[in-house]
Amino acid sequence: MKKTVLVSGGAGFIGSHVSVELAQAGYDVLIADNMSNCDETNYNGVCKILGYAPEFVKMDFCDSEAVDRLFAGHKIDAVIHFAAYKAVGESVAQPLMYYRNNLLSFMNVIEAARKNGGCNVLFSSSATVYGEAEDLPVTEKTGRKPSTSPYGNTKQISEDILRDCVKAYPEIKGIALRYFNPIGAHPSALIGELPRGVPNNLVPFITQTAIGKRECLSIFGKDYPTEDGTCLRDYIDVVDLAKAHVCAVTRMIEGKMKADYEIYNIGTGRPVSVLELVNSFEKVNSLKLNYKFVDRRPGDVVSIYGSPALANEELGWKAERSVEETLAAAWAWEKALAGKN
Ligand code: UDP
Repeated sequence: MKKTVLVSGGAGFIGSHVSVELAQAGYDVLIADNMSNCDETNYNGVCKILGYAPEFVKMDFCDSEAVDRLFAGHKIDAVIHFAAYKAVGESVAQPLMYYRNNLLSFMNVIEAARKNGGCNVLFSSSATVYGEAEDLPVTEKTGRKPSTSPYGNTKQISEDILRDCVKAYPEIKGIALRYFNPIGAHPSALIGELPRGVPNNLVPFITQTAIGKRECLSIFGKDYPTEDGTCLRDYIDVVDLAKAHVCAVTRMIEGKMKADYEIYNIGTGRPVSVLELVNSFEKVNSLKLNYKFVDRRPGDVVSIYGSPALANEELGWKAERSVEETLAAAWAWEKALAGKN
């Protein structure tokens, strides 16, 4: 019997890549999304890649009755919860919207899972919980820092909700994956990142500048205490990241967890500066990017990269793609999008 994995927010950037990898690993994927922050492009891409259409339910995870109905109507072996808002700046301007949406939806998932016999719950967390860490690379034992945005705070609170629920309810098992900076796109160029409006993140801004949608990339800060003066990040390929979810879900479903709640860093362990990333993008795609240095962006940490050792060991997962391959995929995706427009 195939096991079923519910992917909340499965039509989004990471959710769509995870849905593909899960299906290709032999899982039945149930995709649910309210489409509030995406259109049908990625879901259609998932169907094209797989050659069939995984079940899709349009629903809002803040609607507890709808979530309950979804769990009651399917035998769900694991749920991966992506459905959340993710714009840091917007969360500062609209904290209630972020707390309500991100926390309520997650509590509804856990509650419905409980009511319907229990479930394995995988939460998509973020390395943002580490803030500006003293010792790099960070490990899962590195302490969390008070969050500097409501968005980051919802990640911390959601981790705590999962930890506490796992303790109280034996029918719930949980894993939190802390992502570093997910970038890139599927090698088919059928799914990828679809930022609404002006991108906040570096790679979509780069690809949109290269294609001519944006005039010039602003590099935020050139006087940071790093080798070239720009910030260091741990850029993780989205397909590699998606595969980590398959490993984590399988570990839960096969009952191989060593504790009822586990946390894993999902990154490469390889720090890359903003300038290095820009240079690699130019080189691998044989083009010149229009960029300029501007002031630092408020709230940015100087350097953050993580040790993936625990995930390597326990999940049997390892990031495989090079930054160059990933940047080539991101560019292919941007070009594919331009072809469609
Ligand atoms: N960045 C930049 N220009 C941009 C967007 C981002 O220089 O238009 C830098 C940002 O200051 C940070 C890095 O790129 O050092 C990664 O930023 P992103 O927003 O992608 O992810 P974050 O690490 O902030 O979550």
